[in-house]
Amino acid sequence: MPKEGEPPVKIVTIPRGEETEPGEEWRVLAPGTRWTCLKCGECCRRAYRVNITWVEFRRATEDPEIREKFRVDGVIVDPSTGLSHPFFGIEGGCPYLDPKTNLCTIHPKRFYSCAAWPFLLHTDGKIYYSKECPGFGRGPEVDPRRVLKEILHHRERAGMVTERERVEKCWKWIEERFGLKSKYVTPDEL
Ligand code: SF4
Ligand code: SF4
Repeated sequence: MPKEGEPPVKIVTIPRGEETEPGEEWRVLAPGTRWTCLKCGECCRRAYRVNITWVEFRRATEDPEIREKFRVDGVIVDPSTGLSHPFFGIEGGCPYLDPKTNLCTIHPKRFYSCAAWPFLLHTDGKIYYSKECPGFGRGPEVDPRRVLKEILHHRERAGMVTERERVEKCWKWIEERFGLKSKYVTPDEL
């Protein structure tokens, strides 16, 4: 809740250039990287803001299951593009996290920021992973083709546009870096 005298919605302005480069926590995915989700729930408790698209915002306000605990802590505005999106903070525990099981209570309906984690499809066409997730170094080898398809699926669901060029770059990067003879597909074919 905003304090007395504060505007009802916090506006965070992103200076030009911020968030165009992955931050310190991100590493480029390499062949042989292993990962599994340990269901530790750390990603839902850390100092992080869950960015929400406006499509997700509308869904959250219309769906009784999400709406019950939904809140917006602020809106992020990029003055260089005029684009904006709301967010909510989860430090100390997301309202949708079940603290007993460490599972998300809205898992099939979770937001894109949550669904993509701990991976990131950057505009450079590479997939990154967060070193803050303790699941890395365990479990089976990560298949970047699967990660890419999952990310694209969730982006589309959140109403996000993914430039064809970025996807094509990523498929090329997967073929070259991982030596995977992936079928070359365009976003329309996924
Ligand atoms: S921090 Fe990583 S291992 Fe832990 S619940 Fe989140 S995704 Fe799974
Ligand atoms: S919405 Fe679900 S996945 Fe996202 S931070 Fe909250 S509990 Fe975690």
